[in-house]
Amino acid sequence: LVALTGVNKHYGELHVLKDINLSIDEGEVVVVIGPSGSGKSTLCRTINRLEPIDSGSITLDGQALPSEGKALARLRADVGMVFQSFNLFAHKTILQNVTLGPTKVRKTDQKQAEKRALELLERVGVASQAEKYPAQLSGGQQQRVAIARALAMDPKVILFDEPTSALDPEMIQEVLEVMVDLAKQGMTMVVVTHEMGFARTAANRVVFMADGEIVEESDPETFFTSPTSKRAQDFLGKIL
Ligand code: ATP
Ligand code: MG
Repeated sequence: LVALTGVNKHYGELHVLKDINLSIDEGEVVVVIGPSGSGKSTLCRTINRLEPIDSGSITLDGQALPSEGKALARLRADVGMVFQSFNLFAHKTILQNVTLGPTKVRKTDQKQAEKRALELLERVGVASQAEKYPAQLSGGQQQRVAIARALAMDPKVILFDEPTSALDPEMIQEVLEVMVDLAKQGMTMVVVTHEMGFARTAANRVVFMADGEIVEESDPETFFTSPTSKRAQDFLGKIL
């Protein structure tokens, strides 16, 4: 579904993505882990062209990523993104946050978009908050709204960049549960996270990055019990 081939990216002198080759199948859940600064966020951001790349190619459904215009807007609609910092529209209600994309980008009729939004808010457990504003919700609730907002676009894949890192411990679980549910229902997901429990239970594949490279890639069981690279062993030694 998503394929990165020989992707390189620099920030000035810094080579942040080094010859990245990664392909993600439909329905697959890929967890990306690695030390701070290894390029995980940059990798996510290149997949929906929030960041341009210097060389290589990225395709979605076999199509090269468009760099601008309507085609890019369509691509962005197909690639959902959930960030660490929720990024909800502060001056819009929860319901409006979820209906905005479908009505503006997908041209869904308002009534229908609201009906769908309420179903999605129900699914992530925050339907009762629909008329409130983001600041009136807890962090865990806001992040679940962000997931509902991503789902409302019927994306082909959703990228999660440390979706629980800004949350208080008691709220992490409620967000992870929603993500595990999505994974079970066959959503294609790329998840940057430090939640190793999630990686073990929900991932089909773990990708370990260090210094802009994919150092190791394997199923979670193999990765956690017998990582082959020194860098992955050191990393796991620190966090487990
Ligand atoms: P973390 O776990 O801390 O989120 P990460 O793996 O997501 O780290 P990135 O945010 O992708 O890492 O950053 C990779 C490298 O690129 C880092 O050295 C970072 O300082 C650098 N970098 C990221 N964004 C920019 C930018 N806009 N301009 C210049 N350098 C950047
Ligand atoms: Mg990051």
